[in-house]
Amino acid sequence: MAGQKHEHVRVAVIGSGFGGLGAAVRLRREGITDFVVLERAGTVGGTWRDNSYPGCACDVPSHLYSFSFAPNPDWPRTFSGQEKIHAYLEHVADVFRIRPHIRFDSEVRQARWDTERLHWILETASGTLTADVVVSATGPLSDPKVPDIPGLGSFEGKVFHSARWDHDYDLRGKRVAMIGTGASAIQIVPAIQQDVGRLTLFQRTPPWVMPRADRAITRAERWLHRQLPFTTQARRGLLWGIRELQVQAFTKRPEELGLVEQLARRNMHRAVKDPALRAKLTPDYRIGCKRILLSNTYYPALAQPHVDVVASGLKEIRGNTLVAADGTEAEVDAIIFGTGFHVTDMPIAERVIGADGDSLAQSWKDGMRSLRGATAAGFPNFMTIIGPNTGLGNSSMILMIESQLNYLADYLRQLHVLGGRVALDPRESAVTGWNNRVQDRMKRTVWNTGGCTSWYLDANGRNTTVWPGTTTEFRQATRHVDVGEYKVVRPPAVAPASPARTARTKKKAVDAA
Ligand SMILES: Cc1cc2nc3c(=O)[nH]c(=O)nc-3n(C[C@H](O)[C@H](O)[C@H](O)COP(=O)(O)OP(=O)(O)OC[C@H]3O[C@@H](n4cnc5c(N)ncnc54)[C@H](O)[C@@H]3O)c2cc1C
Repeated sequence: MAGQKHEHVRVAVIGSGFGGLGAAVRLRREGITDFVVLERAGTVGGTWRDNSYPGCACDVPSHLYSFSFAPNPDWPRTFSGQEKIHAYLEHVADVFRIRPHIRFDSEVRQARWDTERLHWILETASGTLTADVVVSATGPLSDPKVPDIPGLGSFEGKVFHSARWDHDYDLRGKRVAMIGTGASAIQIVPAIQQDVGRLTLFQRTPPWVMPRADRAITRAERWLHRQLPFTTQARRGLLWGIRELQVQAFTKRPEELGLVEQLARRNMHRAVKDPALRAKLTPDYRIGCKRILLSNTYYPALAQPHVDVVASGLKEIRGNTLVAADGTEAEVDAIIFGTGFHVTDMPIAERVIGADGDSLAQSWKDGMRSLRGATAAGFPNFMTIIGPNTGLGNSSMILMIESQLNYLADYLRQLHVLGGRVALDPRESAVTGWNNRVQDRMKRTVWNTGGCTSWYLDANGRNTTVWPGTTTEFRQATRHVDVGEYKVVRPPAVAPASPARTARTKKKAVDAA
């Protein structure tokens, strides 16, 4: 566009959370410096910048929930809080010299594949640029979802989502409604209950809540980790190994989870003495079907006299009165939505336009699908970090991100080997084969057989989010790019030939594979 700066880079990374920063570090390690990181916000951190609600912390131990290439001997707690994780990501951006590559306030509004020039045209809030390869790391839990509740627009009190906490609003003494009982809500409820005047929790489905083995990491431990770095690695290895062994129960033998259910029930019985409340809080589906939550303070908070549990979803709002599906009413001053994110309808997909002129969202209208969780047919040189079926039910997402970074590195190597102006477009048969294998394995998992609905499932009831295996299996599946799974796309030949041939070559790039 006239007057706008035009710039071309080899790789454009979208997002600066764990995924985007990890990709940036990996690119530098591969010797690639011709790249940008496009971030819509004004600082790095993604999840850990946006979720600043009281009580926010990771639920995978910090020594595992961090990059393997950037161990932190100084994690203060086994499950560190949001501020520490955010600071860690800022530190990673500094130490690995990523900052010069980052463009803040650069929301990607559209990415369009140019079939003639074989590059992506990215329109961002700070200008237009082109890139040979796009790495989309916009996050699976990045765009908050607020349900369309009748009457919400005319509610006169305060309303916000857990991922957009309003720190200027003083909750002290207020009548507050918490909507939802997911991972964020169970951290928020105990963190605010002492301050608020009354707290009403709207619960559609009770979660399974296990005890949380959270403690301060002692000075001696931290000293040891600093002096002998292999002890940090050993700690990480142990945390990883335990979770790796647990996976089989989730993916192949859900019936073995009965013992875990007993532990969770005991966790509730310790804190909740009222049988009526216990009945409301007891799940009727297999543990693990929804994400297992960890807390020592959630049940004690719910047992407080000024806390009410409405065992029914929010149906409508009349003035300042919230009405549940079972007719229960509660008058409140503030509503906090802990209702999750756009997960199976990944918002960036609306903005990515592939070789045939269709958006990724159109291509995924029957559900998200990709090759090895990364690439999608018709979208050459476009890769998603934490793409379809790469989520985990019980371990650290950083393990999956780092596997995908291996795949990215090899993808770029393959492009280099092929030489010249070239792109890789996954074959439809390879995408279908991969997804059939994933969905076949999914049939036995607790996420599909456990008797619940969850955010892992899309509108068609298909699980397009979770990886049905161990992180080791995923690491192996993404170690190398099998070029045979891709069409090798070259620029259309410059053709002084017949008009018919020119039209044909313009329509489709040559499949040289
Ligand atoms: C409260 C909470 C707790 C969690 N705890 C854990 C845990 O304990 N263990 C675990 O494994 N996982 C956890 N997760 C999941 C977590 O999201 C991932 O582990 C990880 O942080 C995802 O990193 P990411 O970089 O892919 O995405 P994000 O961290 O979400 O980063 C995405 C980035 O992309 C940017 N972006 C989005 N769209 C655009 C656009 N169009 N243009 C430009 N920039 C854009 C966003 O602003 C954001 O900075 C948690 C999630 C939440 C919400």
